Amino acid sequence: MLGRMMTTPLTVSEIMHFAERHHGNSEVVSITADRPLHRCTYHDVFRRARQLANVLERLGVERGQRVASLAWNDYRHLELYFGVSCAGRVLHTVNPRLFAEQLVYIINHAANRALFFDIAFLPLVESLADKLPTVATYVVLTSADNMPERSSLDLVCYETLLGAESDDYDWPQLDENTANMLCYTSGTTGNPKGVLYSHRSTVLHAYASCLPDALNLCNRDVVLPVVPMFHVNAWGSPFSAAITGAKLVFPGPKMADGESLQSLIEAEGVTLALGVPTVWLALLAYLRDSGKTVPSLDRTVIGGAACPLTIMDEFEQKHGVRTLHAWGMTETSPVGTVNAPKRGMEKLSREDNDSLRVKQGRGVFGIDMKIVGDEGKELPWDGKAFGDLRVRGWWVCDGYFGQDGPSDSHDEDGWFSTGDVATIDANGYMQITDRTKDVIKSGGEWISSIELENHAVAHPGVREAAVIGVRHEKWSERPLLVVVSADNAKPDKDDLLASFKGKVADWWIPDAVEFVDELPHTATGKISKLRLREQFAEYALPSE
Ligand code: AMP
Repeated sequence: MLGRMMTTPLTVSEIMHFAERHHGNSEVVSITADRPLHRCTYHDVFRRARQLANVLERLGVERGQRVASLAWNDYRHLELYFGVSCAGRVLHTVNPRLFAEQLVYIINHAANRALFFDIAFLPLVESLADKLPTVATYVVLTSADNMPERSSLDLVCYETLLGAESDDYDWPQLDENTANMLCYTSGTTGNPKGVLYSHRSTVLHAYASCLPDALNLCNRDVVLPVVPMFHVNAWGSPFSAAITGAKLVFPGPKMADGESLQSLIEAEGVTLALGVPTVWLALLAYLRDSGKTVPSLDRTVIGGAACPLTIMDEFEQKHGVRTLHAWGMTETSPVGTVNAPKRGMEKLSREDNDSLRVKQGRGVFGIDMKIVGDEGKELPWDGKAFGDLRVRGWWVCDGYFGQDGPSDSHDEDGWFSTGDVATIDANGYMQITDRTKDVIKSGGEWISSIELENHAVAHPGVREAAVIGVRHEKWSERPLLVVVSADNAKPDKDDLLASFKGKVADWWIPDAVEFVDELPHTATGKISKLRLREQFAEYALPSE
């Protein structure tokens, strides 16, 4: 017997309708490429999203077709999020930091019909355009008076396009499984793969992200997504904010600029900010140097890479800001786990609490996880056994865009193999020890590069650190610590290695330290171990 409850499809259009009726006056504040500060409301965003939907009709973009954005975080990008999705088209958010060949590959693979881009990306777009046969329209996200004077392309102005359209639009009734957003993984090897989100997955993910043990989002929050809107939809935060009516603050091109972030936080009363660890290093350095503070900031969501304890401590002890350490990936929309304490954990000793906080956290309802050993057997949740982390749930991809059936990363029961190696403890806290490809195997035993890096950055002379495995005759691989030293204090190598003593097993301690001016980063701001390994491919460790 079926229940007698309504079965309204779970669509982003429902989020939009609700937000418009219930908190349409909530503010959206942005720094944009063409204005120092722009203010509007959700009402304005949705009104302009209707104009945008009319633009898509006029441009001949059909339902199910993809249009691309190449833009920083601001209100126009938000209009694309809602306008394109709710019109039944798909928004492909392109990461401008990808290599040119990858950009060409993904825009062609997605067969993008139009490209909406920030004016700052004009030289990049011009350099790629003759390799993008499917793109019929190039739209600059700016107003007529800011349009470039000349270009090799036939450019269209976003504001002019919108201004010519009615703000009446009948949003279509969509099946909840209709695709709405497309994001490519920043694959370090091979071509990037497209993760095609659906309305249903987007709604469920955004809904669950609001839970108290996740982002704990409410109407009184002021949310600053510093994670780019091209990186897994800014972790879904624009959709979660719209569910609750939280005010949204967008940093535009000022993503890793500590001074701009501080002044936005202070001026707009930001309570929740989201970003990868490197962004917070920039903000914390600015706060240290300037003596400025972030009094309104209540919590930061830090994910995308392991968050070292030093960042959490500085936020908490100096600024009273709680860190929500979270794990996820493009394939998981991305929120998978969030580190929130369980009942009774307030009584933990400092040391036990520290060991807990560096973990990536507990599953959020909607995502299930397990760890699996070499023979494919599930491993115990004892905090010690580590294996391949597999997940499954309502907002995990079941394959990739343009590929039939499940991918090679999906097992026969539908679990997605994340490529991360992890432990899970008896309380359900998952901890990433490495990417499978970054694992260091010394004498047949695994060493966690992430744990070593966490200890290394706790040293006052270290700004950024990475540990990679290098060839060793006897042990097959041994860890090498590569360090960017803090501004004015290059630490002594022996002193640095001695600082690991007592924190990790002696045989885990790196064999050598190398100083570099900077570490290579991926398109999403993470340290690129692949490039680092290439850089140190011929490295000879000191003899024993
Ligand atoms: P992406 O799809 O670019 O978001 O990358 C996802 C990968 O980033 C994951 O598979 C992890 O390897 C890594 N990652 C994400 N969050 C964390 C975290 N909190 N700690 C360690 N690694 C993380």
